Amino acid sequence: MPFQELESILGAIEPHYQSSERRQLQRILEIWTTLVTDAIAAHTQPIAIQRNILEVATASPVWTQTLVFERPVILRKIRDLLSIELSDIRFSTVQWRPPQAEAPIEADPWQSHPSRLPDETPEVETQLALFSNAKTAFDRWSLIIQSRAQHLPLCPECGSPTPPGELQRWSVCAICAAQR
Ligand SMILES: [Zn+2]
Repeated sequence: MPFQELESILGAIEPHYQSSERRQLQRILEIWTTLVTDAIAAHTQPIAIQRNILEVATASPVWTQTLVFERPVILRKIRDLLSIELSDIRFSTVQWRPPQAEAPIEADPWQSHPSRLPDETPEVETQLALFSNAKTAFDRWSLIIQSRAQHLPLCPECGSPTPPGELQRWSVCAICAAQR
């Protein structure tokens, strides 16, 4: 089947396939940044409409508290601008996903350091993405360490999981190498 033909069929199906709540959410998402202040937009993510209630993920409990007072204003704007009559908005941190979790990698000496490991595997990335805000940085860190340790060769001297770069350079881990 030619791609264009497939595309036109999907185009015809899509409006019927998507529920009306799904379409309403889409329209709200399109203008969300104009419905709320920049600060609120940066700390909220509309995620669903269920039983006529808009569910909005928030970056922290503090934002949830703040937004409870904004709720009537946002509801009124959605009604006035989109003619969507919602019964309520529910704010919760549970489904919050921090935008751009990975900072861009910059060139530095660490990039070529022997203790440096190859970049995280996609599997680890996925696991990290599942962490909510409630988890601490320590949890993220220990997951990375555990995951790396499972795949690492062991130092022949002390038996610790060791980055391959260290073994190549010193035949032992960096700690054992330093003690020599
Ligand atoms: Zn060692």
